Amino acid sequence: MLCEILQHSGQVLGVFSCANSIYHVEAYLDHAATTPMNPVALQAQIQASSLIGNPSGSHRAARVAKDLLERSREEVGALLGVAASEVVFTSGGTESDNLAIFGSIGDGKIAVCSTIEHHAVLDSVNAYGGKLIGVTRSGVIDLEGLESLLKEGGERVGVVSVMAANNETGVVQPLAEVCALVRRYAPRALCHTDAVQVPSYLDVGKITAGFDLVSISGHKFGGPKGIGALIVRRPVSIKALFHGGGQERELRSGTQNLAGAAAMAAALRDAAENRDKNVRRISMLTEKLRGGLSAKLAAIKPNGVDEMQMCNITNYCFDGLNSEEILFLLDSAGVYASAGSSCASGALNPSHVLLEMGRSKSEASGSLRLSLGVTTTEEEVEYAIEVVASVVRELAIKKGALWI
Ligand code: PLP
Repeated sequence: MLCEILQHSGQVLGVFSCANSIYHVEAYLDHAATTPMNPVALQAQIQASSLIGNPSGSHRAARVAKDLLERSREEVGALLGVAASEVVFTSGGTESDNLAIFGSIGDGKIAVCSTIEHHAVLDSVNAYGGKLIGVTRSGVIDLEGLESLLKEGGERVGVVSVMAANNETGVVQPLAEVCALVRRYAPRALCHTDAVQVPSYLDVGKITAGFDLVSISGHKFGGPKGIGALIVRRPVSIKALFHGGGQERELRSGTQNLAGAAAMAAALRDAAENRDKNVRRISMLTEKLRGGLSAKLAAIKPNGVDEMQMCNITNYCFDGLNSEEILFLLDSAGVYASAGSSCASGALNPSHVLLEMGRSKSEASGSLRLSLGVTTTEEEVEYAIEVVASVVRELAIKKGALWI
């Protein structure tokens, strides 16, 4: 089996293994989808993978595994500003979100969330006929709408879930205000936030202070895929979705992904230690990207609102164009990006986030998300500016889009 480690401007962009092909990555601008693995995390994963013990066992090999698992839990807890015992390891963001929502409701309780949540939250809330709160044109939750809903729902509200930052637009939500409203009008409800997109850019512990439940996912900040955590603050009690061996405070039965937990802890430490430096650099690169694109395509303007956006995500709507066509041409030129929501089959639907932000179907069907990350280089950004501008111009002329 061929295993290629691709180098770009001196940096490893990806590890690709396949029988006959070598993939050539020119500009990976899809860090909101997943990030390249941090070498420190990779090292931790490899080392932990050599341990044979099951953390639930009682012999020495098991105790060694258990010790590493608990050290990883302590590390994750300390970095998120919670006690180790409040960290429940899961398989990732989707599971954490499902556990938070399904674990909190029942007994006629209502779940509430914003209309722009990731489907892991949105579909869970909808499964129980929950209530949705809209957003402004800038993609920020309508706090007045939330207030009236909480006043009306009162004791019947079981959980309120509002994401820390949106995965398509990068818009950061006013979590402190959300939590204050919940405590005031629905004091028995649990507050959950999906903080999956933020650990590399914002201090999760700080922005989620007061929240009962917080979801994170390793592969969004340089950790491996298939590991995440749900913070369950004590003395909060939620119901388990998986039953069996009673691992993870009986909230998530199943033998833990030890190597994943160790690697996620290492990635989280690196993300926290280098956050300020990374944010400065990525902000500069995003500014360059946006400036470069608006110099070439005067009419375009990113969705969202600058003051409330994370530094790494830029989202455009190209009215009249088709995201699938844009992404296909970018892909052929080695620029990897994504659009709005995609379903498991890979087919693109107009983004529910952009539709909720008041964009028309035609605008939302021509969306493009460019997301930078800690490994993004200036060369990648420069290359992406050239390619994106020429692809969009070519398609816009072909389709007779008036804004070009
Ligand atoms: N929540 C948000 C905001 C996300 O962006 C994602 C992934 O794209 C998820 C949840 C799901 O996380 P995972 O891929 O770890 O299941």
